[in-house]
Amino acid sequence: MDRIDTLVIGAGVIGLAVARALALQGREVIVAEAEAGFGLHTSSRNSEVIHAGLYYPTGSLKARLCLAGREALYRYCAEHGVPHRRLGKLIVATQPDDMARLAQLAERAAANGVTDLRWLDRAELAALEPELAGHAALLSPSTGIVDSHALMLALLGDAEAAGALLAPASPIVGGRVESDGIVLEIGGDEPYPIKARSVVNAAGLWAHRVAAAIEGVPPATIPTVRYARGVYFTLSGRAPFSHLIYPLPVAGGLGTHLTLDLAGQARFGPDVEWIDTVDYSVDPARGARFAAAVRPWWPGLPDDALQPGYAGIRPKLAGPGEPDADFLIQDEREHGVAGLINLYGIESPGLTSCLALADEVARRLA
Ligand SMILES: Cc1cc2nc3c(=O)[nH]c(=O)nc-3n(C[C@H](O)[C@H](O)[C@H](O)COP(=O)(O)OP(=O)(O)OC[C@H]3O[C@@H](n4cnc5c(N)ncnc54)[C@H](O)[C@@H]3O)c2cc1C
Repeated sequence: MDRIDTLVIGAGVIGLAVARALALQGREVIVAEAEAGFGLHTSSRNSEVIHAGLYYPTGSLKARLCLAGREALYRYCAEHGVPHRRLGKLIVATQPDDMARLAQLAERAAANGVTDLRWLDRAELAALEPELAGHAALLSPSTGIVDSHALMLALLGDAEAAGALLAPASPIVGGRVESDGIVLEIGGDEPYPIKARSVVNAAGLWAHRVAAAIEGVPPATIPTVRYARGVYFTLSGRAPFSHLIYPLPVAGGLGTHLTLDLAGQARFGPDVEWIDTVDYSVDPARGARFAAAVRPWWPGLPDDALQPGYAGIRPKLAGPGEPDADFLIQDEREHGVAGLINLYGIESPGLTSCLALADEVARRLA
């Protein structure tokens, strides 16, 4: 049986960032990816926003890794020619009742170390974004956008240059914990077993299933994962905004916001819909609800301007109505298996956090 130092399961942005970090430390790394290519799931089905770190409970992994990851990501993109832009974002109070929640958000941001937020009153808002309706807004100058595919390509390039290998069409279908490593069964057309000293389970929406398929991982340590789909609608024509525009967050998500991609194409989303299986379909009928959610802050949204876009799915560790859960990074201390890291619930801000999260994994494996 082949033996290697480290097997990373999943070639999304997290698996690729982890593979890069470990390969740069001199480890021998293989990334086993079920699909024919990298980044075909959540990492290419998101808002591509570099989050500033405003929302997450102070001291949480989400808050800590988002802040550290954000600056690391801006630096990385600049150094590697990954298209990105620090556009800034506005969080808008559309009615007087929103002001108290906006103030709470500003307090939490400050507690998290986000020190550059600026309050804008109605006149300042109108001067900055004349088409935007709102009583007031918070401007977050360090929020930006990134080309997620180019980012993954750069991470993969670095990892490969440091000796890592991507094995596409190589789903992990089972495994077992042994005294000197973890045996993983790689399925696909030519199934084979491989033994790794360390394993990082970065299988995103399927991380809990992968963990459950490895004999010796205590089932009680595997969380229940629920899926919350978010769909996007794209705008035909150009949006009259130069910042990302967010309403106040809603249960399970950040609210139907406007993001711009690097080509200037505007998209609205994601909403929150609890589903049972991975299904990326977009029901065009949801468009009417999107228009209703957007018009309070953009009354000028033209009729019939929204086209069904795409969907992404959040792997949620909390159910409907429950407070959002933190990222869950499990190592030997939690599950008792030496050399195994399980990553669960890596929803937003996972893209922003990828480099910091990879450093955290590398630190725990060291
Ligand atoms: C709607 C939405 C919007 C978001 N917006 C943002 C945002 O604006 N900013 C931000 O920072 N974050 C955002 N996120 C979060 C971010 O997209 C994720 O945190 C990140 O992409 C997760 O990456 P991942 O590598 O864990 O998962 P994935 O990209 O899903 O990668 C997991 C990989 O594992 C593979 N895999 C699964 N099972 C197996 C197996 N058995 N064997 C081998 N391979 C396997 C899959 O094929 C997949 O390629 C958003 C998420 C969603 C859903």
